Amino acid sequence: MFKKRLKGDLAVLKLSHINKYYHVGETVTKAQNDVSVDFRQQEFVAILGPSGSGKTTMLNIIGGLDRYDSGDLLIKGKSTKNFKDSDWDAYRNNSVGFIFQSYNLISHLSIMENVEMGMTLSGVPAVQKRKQATDALIRVGLKDQMHKQPSQLSGGQMQRVAIARAIANDPEILLADEPTGALDSETSLEIMELIRDLSKDRLVIMVTHNPDLAHQYADRIIEFADGQIQYDSNPFEEDSDQTGFSLNNTKMSYWTALKLSFTNIRTKKGRTFLTVFASSIGIIGIAVVLALSNGFQKQVNQTQSNTLSTMPVTISQVSTDPSAMANNSSKDKASKSNQVKAEKSDQEKAQHTNKITNKYLDYLNKMPKKDAKNIAVSYGTGMNLLRQVNGKYKPVTFSNTNPDTASSGSMMSGSSNTTSSVYPVDRNGKQTFLKSYYKVLAGNYPTKATDIVLVVNKDNSLNINALKNLGISVKEGQKFNYNDLVGTKVKMVANDDYYTKLPTGNFVSGTDYSSMATKAATKTLTVKGIIRVKSSDSDGILASGVAYSANLTKEALNVNQNSAIVTAQKNSNNNVITGQNMDKAARSNVLTTLGGTSTPTNIQIYPTRFKQKDSVLSYLDKYNQGKSKADKVVYTDLASTISKMTGGIMDAITYVLIAFAGISLVTSMIMIAIITYTSVLERTKEIGVLKALGARKKDITRVFDAETFILGFGAGIFGIFVAWVLTFPINAILENVTGLAGVAVLNPMQAVILVIISTVLTLLGGHIPARMAAKKDAAIALRAE
Ligand code: ADP
Repeated sequence: MFKKRLKGDLAVLKLSHINKYYHVGETVTKAQNDVSVDFRQQEFVAILGPSGSGKTTMLNIIGGLDRYDSGDLLIKGKSTKNFKDSDWDAYRNNSVGFIFQSYNLISHLSIMENVEMGMTLSGVPAVQKRKQATDALIRVGLKDQMHKQPSQLSGGQMQRVAIARAIANDPEILLADEPTGALDSETSLEIMELIRDLSKDRLVIMVTHNPDLAHQYADRIIEFADGQIQYDSNPFEEDSDQTGFSLNNTKMSYWTALKLSFTNIRTKKGRTFLTVFASSIGIIGIAVVLALSNGFQKQVNQTQSNTLSTMPVTISQVSTDPSAMANNSSKDKASKSNQVKAEKSDQEKAQHTNKITNKYLDYLNKMPKKDAKNIAVSYGTGMNLLRQVNGKYKPVTFSNTNPDTASSGSMMSGSSNTTSSVYPVDRNGKQTFLKSYYKVLAGNYPTKATDIVLVVNKDNSLNINALKNLGISVKEGQKFNYNDLVGTKVKMVANDDYYTKLPTGNFVSGTDYSSMATKAATKTLTVKGIIRVKSSDSDGILASGVAYSANLTKEALNVNQNSAIVTAQKNSNNNVITGQNMDKAARSNVLTTLGGTSTPTNIQIYPTRFKQKDSVLSYLDKYNQGKSKADKVVYTDLASTISKMTGGIMDAITYVLIAFAGISLVTSMIMIAIITYTSVLERTKEIGVLKALGARKKDITRVFDAETFILGFGAGIFGIFVAWVLTFPINAILENVTGLAGVAVLNPMQAVILVIISTVLTLLGGHIPARMAAKKDAAIALRAE
């Protein structure tokens, strides 16, 4: 592989009036003071001189590790005055091999990898690289040591590795800075033999302190003092211009950078682990917070959908428009006017009368059944109710108000429209609402419109007023057997049977209740069962007391719509029972109660599932689209108000906790920066060697970036792992304390994002020290001890 170059009198290198001054404070050191010298393509030059005379400086300038201040260095006749960094990098990589006194092997790489490094930098394919490195190692006599680590070699062997590294790329110039300075005399001779052997094929320039060795081996001796050549045993002047100088640029791949960092990290396992652990704490914190917040949100949602699914979306005749409530800020401004202005109250302004038309009801009926199974439409129609108490019929109500304190307008007693007492029936007639949310304590679920139920609280208490209003004499605390109540019958009498017309034209409620009870139009309502809410989280939508089907009010309406009293009331402005004059509102109230208005007073829409509520709401919103304000139908969604509130609190807590954990993330970023900086300081020599082998600034940055990448990525993965492990004890503790199981759940998506954040942040933190590393002067780096 080592091609024989023609032995000829060609100058491969020409130094022309080179100056290099070092300024330290006031003093100027002329390390190179107008140095001019030519080197042949093939010779072994030894440079002698006292310490500090400028030998190393010249070698570094020749090798492209250091820049001259003025003059010119010509390589095969080509001036380097206009060389860019990349040209110097390529020159070092392609044309120059360096050997140092202290070998400068990269300790965390294998012998083979050390020798291959120059070729790795220039992107030589793996197979060729391995072959050339092997050849070079054989050439320096390390055939049997090839697979060892540098630390397992003797000094002489390490220097042989360094020489193999220098010649692996078959450079035309070999530069050696006191290559035997650290070796015993016997080994020194062997190394000198080797170098002399190598000088048969190339230019070798060797700095040495040892004149004996120089005289024994070198073809030419140059003596240096005070930055100037004092003596040249075999000077050479050449003036013919040469051509054919070309260079291949070097380029380290990201993969090489990663591998280099990885092997380095591997040698510092303890420190790496501590770094990764420390910088993962922020990630652990955030991951745990997120896991908890996810879990809590899930739990809250679950509880909410359990609790709130029983809360219907309500449409009332008169409703509060939330948007109208919102913009009432004008009140806060002090008025400059000296007049008083009559205004409606905010509440009244926000009041909206819903026009619940048949068209709207049709629209509701077309709502997809998968979204809302139950739509309970109730009417304000009063019911004329009778119950047989001790053999005698007497009027009763389904009301929960205290009969002793309630104002007893005789005809109003029939009205018992507490909306909460109406249970919804499935749109296909089934009872899924009650069956889903209520359990039967006694009797059965209701099936017909005339079936009523008693709703009890979780402690089996029943509103005492409801019992009183049913005509049951009861004392507070009194207990009833289920069977005392189930089967209780109530008669619902039609208006025409209940009211009689007086000759005056007014109506009066009859008193012959027992005959009313047997009229053809009279319906028998039966207490079918006693029910109680199922869920432990929910109080249920139905108030304790009597609950009846939404369809029952519809039946009452159908029966009474065309009754005589309704017709009479429709034609009169006076109350047809009391004869009193009424305003419009009172009249309309009376008509509704009598069953004269078929407009529902209240519509309750029960979403099939909590999730489905959004579809229900958007269906309702769609109706309002493009309608004028007055024609809009406003609904109340209590459940969303509640869930928005709790969701907001959860979010706020999560943000605060993440902010805290974020601080630790930033802290670990700073820590990574410090650690990278330390690593840069530690690896100064390695940076110098890499540069001597032709690494670009970019490559050096890459090596350190790769290292922080590995650390950041490792910290992310480790952090997520720890957080995941932590979720187990956290869940165990939470289950113990709150009874909630599996609260902390790590979201895989969030885990991935956190790993990315950790990697990016540490990369950012480590990038500045990495750039500093790249900027390190190779010459200074190699001088560092
Ligand atoms: P030698 O190799 O002959 O011992 P050097 O080339 O190392 O000599 O140094 C030549 C002179 O330049 C010395 O006086 C040295 O102190 C000085 N020198 C070398 N490098 C630097 C530097 N980076 N800054 C300041 N002075 C330097």
